[in-house]
Amino acid sequence: MSDATPPGDGAVGGDPTTDGGTAAAADETAARPAPIGAPGPDDVLAVRDLSTRFFTEEGQINAVESASFDLREDEILGVVGESGSGKSVTALSLVDLVETPGRITSGEVWYREPDLADEFRGVDAVAVDGDHVDLRTVPPRVRRSLRGPSFSVIFQDPMSSFNPSITVGEQIAEAVEVQRRARANPRSTRSRTQGYGLGKFLLDGLVPGRDYTSEESMDRAVELLGQVGIPDPEERVDEYPGQFSGGMLQRAMIAQALAGEPDVLIADEPTTALDVTIQAQILNLLKEIQAERGMSIVLITHDLGVIAEMCDRVCVMYAGEIVERGTLDSVFEETVHPYTQGLLGSIPDVDDPQARLEPIAGNVPSLVDAEMDDRCYFADRCPKAMEACLDKPPELTVDAAADHGAKCVLAEREYDPVDALPDDYFGAGPGSDAGDPAATDGGAGE
Ligand code: SF4
Repeated sequence: MSDATPPGDGAVGGDPTTDGGTAAAADETAARPAPIGAPGPDDVLAVRDLSTRFFTEEGQINAVESASFDLREDEILGVVGESGSGKSVTALSLVDLVETPGRITSGEVWYREPDLADEFRGVDAVAVDGDHVDLRTVPPRVRRSLRGPSFSVIFQDPMSSFNPSITVGEQIAEAVEVQRRARANPRSTRSRTQGYGLGKFLLDGLVPGRDYTSEESMDRAVELLGQVGIPDPEERVDEYPGQFSGGMLQRAMIAQALAGEPDVLIADEPTTALDVTIQAQILNLLKEIQAERGMSIVLITHDLGVIAEMCDRVCVMYAGEIVERGTLDSVFEETVHPYTQGLLGSIPDVDDPQARLEPIAGNVPSLVDAEMDDRCYFADRCPKAMEACLDKPPELTVDAAADHGAKCVLAEREYDPVDALPDDYFGAGPGSDAGDPAATDGGAGE
């Protein structure tokens, strides 16, 4: 069980010493935590010990538990895992969009923004470290103001994200307008007028009946649609979402996400609802945009094939925890965690399409706090579970140069069948659900 902060506690800055999942269980002499400390100069985001809980009638759900990772400039970071592993909640936590009954209960989200750091340097309640600011400590209005110009999200289902009764162009123009007005607001933390000055800002405040969008924002919507590969954007800008195909609508959503020229783009299963050909086009588009604009992308997916194709570094999530992370090459070639090995074994082999896939036995565990044992959460599905795994392993270094760590005892010892737990230790045993279609993630990940 975790040491969750109870509802009502407005904890912000994280305290690593309160992490029951790592510190409490760690053997001080044997544990060698991977080097993840203060944010580095290349880190656009540095997340430390982030925990998000949902306080439901069924009990406390530990959706994200003590997650720590970095997002560097100019990179694509993949977050992969089965449905219910905490991927999407982690992403929503980054942009402070977790809805009631959920709440971030602890942790730090360091964002590199020199202007913001200068604004809050010396303010007691706000944590500033060089050019980084801990967003968990800034006022909520500041966090809200960063959505758009700093962070944007692409969701998996564009059909439900657009209003069917308003033209696509109008909806993109609204996003452009929101950013122009926010930047013209003298209270904005990132004041850049982009042709929308203080005079217009005041006029729109005094005369609310004025059209929200403007010729400039509609022109920008056309430009953005063209940039994401929509043919004839001047005509398509006046069409409704129902007149767009799924792939086109996903492109339009990417255009909308780019309206604020964000530093960080969070793409949550952006191709799940699309067929394979269109998936490849959208992924290529994201890669091109990332390269052209030098932005950083967090790509959430249940598909390790997509990770292999797209990402520079990867975090593997299981039961709300990051169980393995590092550069793509290191995690794929020196895989330590049996869960990561299981995901890799679930990828179809293009050279041998007849080859049998190896599903991961068992099902994802309950994330209800009262039902979570204080051990490796994967132990009941792990073919290499040993006595040592009954003490919850901390993150151990696999390869410091590759920033590769794993929450698994196999990072520092070999598997020895002599120490293996009996097959029926957790009841029916890890192999009991082999072949169960529910055992591996076949659909949209959380
Ligand atoms: S700690 Fe043990 S049970 Fe957990 S993944 Fe590693 S080997 Fe398996």
